[in-house]
Amino acid sequence: MTDALLSLPPLREVIARHGLAAKKSLGQNFLLDGNLLDRIARVPGPLAGASVYEVGPGPGGLTRALLRAGANVVAVERDDRALPALAELGALAPGRLQVVGGDALDYDPRGTLPGPLHIVANLPYNIGTALLVRWLTIEPWPPWWASLTLMFQKEVAQRIVAAAGSDAYGRLSVLAQFRSRPRIAFDLPAKAFTPPPKVASAVVHIVPMDPVLDVPMARIEAVTAAAFGQRRKMLRASLKTLNGGIEALQRTGIDPERRAETLTVAEFAALAAEL
Ligand code: SAM
Repeated sequence: MTDALLSLPPLREVIARHGLAAKKSLGQNFLLDGNLLDRIARVPGPLAGASVYEVGPGPGGLTRALLRAGANVVAVERDDRALPALAELGALAPGRLQVVGGDALDYDPRGTLPGPLHIVANLPYNIGTALLVRWLTIEPWPPWWASLTLMFQKEVAQRIVAAAGSDAYGRLSVLAQFRSRPRIAFDLPAKAFTPPPKVASAVVHIVPMDPVLDVPMARIEAVTAAAFGQRRKMLRASLKTLNGGIEALQRTGIDPERRAETLTVAEFAALAAEL
């Protein structure tokens, strides 16, 4: 690591100098504590020489931590006001930080850096779930990303890791667990952020694995959409909306009087395989 990355100006000063007053519309809740940011950067494992894709670097706190960990980083940021601050940071780590101004929903980082990318982000909450579902449902599998280290509202993090039968269990749990292993790395109180959001947060770590069954993800998406679309109904009612849903239920021998939230990921996969 270059010495320059060890003696950076405080993030508060960067925010003040570049006029980066937090905008609610962009989901801006900044992290300013270097130790906490280093802790997030350790979640994916050693990053020396690794390729990292960051969504929403903002004033660059997490970006600093990723560079300190030795990563090469490509980052996409929608707020043009942050670009000069990020250019300053990039100048201190020559050749290791590429910043793209734009919307992460329209940006494809593949090909910018070598090897599979670790995705690490303190995500804007308004697009966090959409990006996660996109990353979980891409084909082919294994995906182009090596791991996901993402900040979510704690309630969303609990849905991602929830087990069948629990209140938080739903479509997101099945999509996240069908061919990945998610875990909550640690929780963060609202006061860790500037400005503090209304709710607590958690860092979720997700690594890809072999699918529970060899079934196309599109079928898992279809069966979970139908089953959880009418969560309170018995499967024999909710799966009526799905072409071949009732027949699949019969073939798997799953009790049609059960409700979606009681089915394990393996049972959803078995249903999808029969569609
Ligand atoms: N990484 C910084 C940190 O940890 O302090 C900022 C995190 S803040 C929660 C979310 C960041 O995502 C903001 O910088 C915001 O401008 C940016 N952002 C919001 N919507 C975005 C989008 N659609 N595409 C890219 N960046 C976006």
